[in-house]
Amino acid sequence: MAQRKQFRAIKGTRDILPPESALWNRVEQAAREVFAAYGYGEIRLPVFEQTELFAHSVGATTDIVSKEMYSFLDSPVSSTSEPAAATLSLRPEATASVCRAYIEHGMHTWPGNVKLYYIGPMFRRERPQKGRYRQFYQIGAEVLGTADDPAMDAEVVEMLMAFFERIGLAGCTLHINSIGCSNCRPAYVEALRAALAKVKDKLGADSQRRIATNPLRVLDSKLPEEQAVIGKLPRIADYLCAACRKHFAAFQKQLELRGIAYEENWRLVRGLDYYTRTTFEITAPGLGAQDAVCGGGRYDGLVELLGGPPNIKGIGFAIGTDRVILSLQETGRAETEFALDVFIAWAGSAAQQVAIRLARGLRGAGLSVEVPPAETKFRRALDLANRLNARQVVLIGPEELAAGQFTVKQLASGEQVKLVEADLLAHLQKARRRG
Ligand code: AMP
Repeated sequence: MAQRKQFRAIKGTRDILPPESALWNRVEQAAREVFAAYGYGEIRLPVFEQTELFAHSVGATTDIVSKEMYSFLDSPVSSTSEPAAATLSLRPEATASVCRAYIEHGMHTWPGNVKLYYIGPMFRRERPQKGRYRQFYQIGAEVLGTADDPAMDAEVVEMLMAFFERIGLAGCTLHINSIGCSNCRPAYVEALRAALAKVKDKLGADSQRRIATNPLRVLDSKLPEEQAVIGKLPRIADYLCAACRKHFAAFQKQLELRGIAYEENWRLVRGLDYYTRTTFEITAPGLGAQDAVCGGGRYDGLVELLGGPPNIKGIGFAIGTDRVILSLQETGRAETEFALDVFIAWAGSAAQQVAIRLARGLRGAGLSVEVPPAETKFRRALDLANRLNARQVVLIGPEELAAGQFTVKQLASGEQVKLVEADLLAHLQKARRRG
């Protein structure tokens, strides 16, 4: 017999299965609630955009754009009236799309600062490893408007910390830096490039290449043999202009005002070209080398760069959901939830009818209920309920029907009670609340 082809998920992509997907939903729901409390509304963005949008915004020399994007030619289907083929890319990040949408919908005319959040997959052809995938997920938020006040930056960070607290991710560290603006950064980049040129032969191939293309990225290097050299490079703090220095000091003061602990990290430059002034990153335990769960910062020139109105500032962040989930699991915070509230075991066609009616009522009240489609012996039904991780089993057999009472068994304790139908829902809900 011919061997059938077996299909597998593409390298760097994966399926997120139950019960883990319940944890994902819990994390995303927490983000929705916390962000809404800070006045953010959801934006749902396309998954692909013109390649040019990312080249313009993220920067043509970044790793993301130069080697990690999934791009393709969108050729029109023969004689349609569509314009000539365009090069499109799966989005590697969403800030560019948010700004594109902001401009396209004239959101600068909306009152106050526009606060948006998004949740969804991003795509980068990186080398897959623990915590690094080619399709990964981000929860992000952006504030766009005329405000460049450091209090805005601090409120964004405060919201992030509130989110991490809500999901129970303990042991996070907030790292902050300022990478200056278009006035002061060029001088720093030149000084850095000159210093790097002097130590070029002590650096690896990647860093050597970056001296010309994107010297700030050398500071991101995690290679142990490069650390001593990098430690002696010029620091941005010595090059900040007066306005950037003032902004950074005020940002720190605003964090302190909010009781938020932070660490200054002069090497935090971020790989994306459009950042100005504030940059931040949050690291979490249990993740090994890929321990950044969130990156963000200010991008005051991006909207104008993409053809939008001048003077629109931006600040935002992206949380790596995959890594947040991993960290919750590795630090024992991913409580295993009961997959099922109730398993209804029945015997006989009269009992099946009652089971179906009962299940509908309980499901309507928000409980998750399993009714086996075929009759099974109670012993086997209990065994299956156990393996399905059900909280309670309701037994309905001829005896129960005759007595007008159901037998309800709590699987964890083995405790068993007999209840009339009128008391059943309250009993099961109480058991659920107790966990
Ligand atoms: P970035 O968009 O590069 O600033 O990344 C923001 C966050 O997204 C990082 O801190 C990571 O948590 C997450 N992230 C970025 N790239 C990946 C990836 N390839 N796989 C998983 N998570 C990622």
